[in-house]
Amino acid sequence: MTAYLWTPPPVHSLPVRGTDQRLPVNRLFFVGRNYHAHAVEMGRPVDKSVERPFYFTKSPSTLVESGATVPYPSETKNYHHEMELVVAIGKPGFRVQPSDAAALVYGYACGLDMTRRDLQLVARDKGRPWDLGKDVEQSSVVSEIVPMPGKILDHGALSLTVNGQPRQSSDLDKLIWNIPELIADLSLFYHLQPGDLIFTGTPEGVGALQSGDRIDGRIEGVGEIVLHVGAAE
Ligand code: MN
Repeated sequence: MTAYLWTPPPVHSLPVRGTDQRLPVNRLFFVGRNYHAHAVEMGRPVDKSVERPFYFTKSPSTLVESGATVPYPSETKNYHHEMELVVAIGKPGFRVQPSDAAALVYGYACGLDMTRRDLQLVARDKGRPWDLGKDVEQSSVVSEIVPMPGKILDHGALSLTVNGQPRQSSDLDKLIWNIPELIADLSLFYHLQPGDLIFTGTPEGVGALQSGDRIDGRIEGVGEIVLHVGAAE
């Protein structure tokens, strides 16, 4: 048995609907600007005819389960919610054709890509990495995983409220790059592995949060997600 200096970090995992077995999480991939109206509200419209999707990653240690209370994070005055569909990869794949992408899907979940928007925009505009804006501790919130092996979701209402007030409302059919296109493109850069999660991007209506806020998200055909924003650290 290997002897470690201290206890290794735990395996990060998520509950799976209909089973006591948990899904062990490998990597967290995030798609940037994948709904036109959100790209416009960020001041960077997307022209799919000449652009490819882009990605950032977060540490698996940022994973938080739905229902949690997370502290309002340090070093920001503009902490934002982003409601997203999450794809859970269940089979390995590299250089996958879009027509073969469904075979990699294990299931789906609701996700929140929590963001220090002020720091993200400073980094973006200065050409710096996004890590301080995006790879925020406890910022990758995910619901239970809903098994749908081999299924491609191509429509379904997606919405988010803050303290019961509507903030985000869209449909999965408005994704600029759909699920097969994302899996195929991402697999050109990474050998996708079981347990990789792909956050597919947020629609318009992102906005600032305050301590004490309650966030409720929902995706038709997938489920719901809840997050409470606690006091500042
Ligand atoms: Mn996002």
